[in-house]
Amino acid sequence: MTGTTLDDYTDRYARRVRGMTASEIRALFAVASRPEVVSLAGGAPYVAALPLDAVGEMLSRLATDHGPTTLQYGIGQGTLELRERICEVMALSGIDVGCGASPEDVVVTVGGQQALDLVARIFLDPGDVVLAEGPTYVGALGVFQAAQAQVVHVPMDGDGIVPEALEQAIAEVARSGRRAKFLYTIPTFQNPAGVTLTEERRERVLDICERAGLLVVEDDPYGQLSFDGDAPAPLRARRRDGVFYLSTFSKTFAPGMRVGWILAPHAVREKLVIASEAQILCPSAYAQAAITTYLATMPWREQLKAYREIYRERRDALLDALADLMPAGTTWTEPKGGLFVWATLPQGLDAKAMMPRAIAARVAYVPGTGFYADGTGAGHMRLNFSFPSPERIREGVRRLAGVMEQELAM
Ligand code: PMP
Repeated sequence: MTGTTLDDYTDRYARRVRGMTASEIRALFAVASRPEVVSLAGGAPYVAALPLDAVGEMLSRLATDHGPTTLQYGIGQGTLELRERICEVMALSGIDVGCGASPEDVVVTVGGQQALDLVARIFLDPGDVVLAEGPTYVGALGVFQAAQAQVVHVPMDGDGIVPEALEQAIAEVARSGRRAKFLYTIPTFQNPAGVTLTEERRERVLDICERAGLLVVEDDPYGQLSFDGDAPAPLRARRRDGVFYLSTFSKTFAPGMRVGWILAPHAVREKLVIASEAQILCPSAYAQAAITTYLATMPWREQLKAYREIYRERRDALLDALADLMPAGTTWTEPKGGLFVWATLPQGLDAKAMMPRAIAARVAYVPGTGFYADGTGAGHMRLNFSFPSPERIREGVRRLAGVMEQELAM
């Protein structure tokens, strides 16, 4: 945080640092990772489900057999081999050559997070407006705030972002004389809300953005983690112009690799590469080789299936526990994929204020306030089901329900 009397550097920081505040979520992780705490706060995939011995063997060969390339610098855009594989991965969800997807237009990034930062870098001037779902991904808020942009939230319901509310938000921004540059959206298994934009709304949202001249930044880390049939095709599979598609191997393989990507309109791809080179020179050659080899030689589709099955069971455990144990007046979303449930507390409860009591009761969650640029959302919480076991999930909900009952009795 800037502005504290303990910080001698306050007067020297760049203006953009004023928007940089510690994320509530990161601060929580230290407490939530204590073993006695059941953490429903994280967003970590269950990487223990990977075939760790086989992955380890594959990784060791990357250095011994291919050291001169895997330990060397590479090109800013990322290796062609990986970009080709990424196109194969995207084709599974309908983003294929038919809709103009090509390795030429893929930029490999250091996770989905750098992909977001690059888009912000090339499009956002201070004071620009970004439209985003309310609530939205906390890491995107950090990027937009660092770019000194203003986030205007657009409400969602169980079917994703509400098209009429999007139209209204666009009109209001225009009336105030500001410029909305893009809609940032996580249409599938949204973080944190767990909801998915319906087929019908996908077309409407694209039409609205096209009419308003608004770019679409589609963030899709979770689309392949569907539990009940396939997810609707991404926005990018429906429209090529003006849509940026961002994804990552963090949830389908391993976040420790820090490899993600952007599929960009052809004209923009070069700017993204130049911006990335200024930031990181090039993505890790070693991590790229690891992902390329993983996709080429290991049963990654089977692994994806394994993740889906584990998460489906954990989602069911969480939904069952919520139905059995939560106090009356609590509601929650029922995600068909991804990692998160969004719960709405009974009237009068404040998830942020309740947090110290929850930690004392050895359960952690993320208060809804972390997912809004304006600090609203205290009546909500995000619950993660990918990491804790089904038994721990139920125990966590039991503890949480106990804390809520006490609050309600106060
Ligand atoms: N976008 C969303 C919506 C996310 O949930 C995450 C990770 N939690 C990211 C981007 C960043 O992913 P990565 O770990 O690949 O940087």
